[in-house]
Amino acid sequence: MMGIDISDDINLVPQLDESNFETNTKGVYLAGVVCGGMNTGKYFIENSINHAVNIFDHIQSTKE
Ligand SMILES: Cc1cc2nc3c(=O)[nH]c(=O)nc-3n(C[C@H](O)[C@H](O)[C@H](O)COP(=O)(O)OP(=O)(O)OC[C@H]3O[C@@H](n4cnc5c(N)ncnc54)[C@H](O)[C@@H]3O)c2cc1C
Repeated sequence: MMGIDISDDINLVPQLDESNFETNTKGVYLAGVVCGGMNTGKYFIENSINHAVNIFDHIQSTKE
């Protein structure tokens, strides 16, 4: 509903920039397990704890 593109394969991976987690819908970010789509074993606490930091850094950089 927010216009985020999803991959055509069975994993249904949302389209996002992995450097800052902004989706193809500008200003809309995803963090955590959802970034892996149906591949729910790709991201867990230990390797997604940085997502929020990257997102905040990106939002801040767009306001400077
Ligand atoms: C048994 C178990 C053990 C684990 N052990 C570890 C571990 O030791 N180390 C580790 O790194 N990771 C571990 N994990 C994985 C870890 O729990 C997850 O990676 C982490 O909780 C994911 O956080 P998240 O915020 O991405 O998603 P979630 O914690 O799943 O948060 C998503 C939230 O969105 C809510 N939600 C969903 N749909 C909607 C909707 N339509 N509207 C509003 N809200 C919605 C859900 O209710 C939920 O609160 C474990 C997972 C399980 C199940």
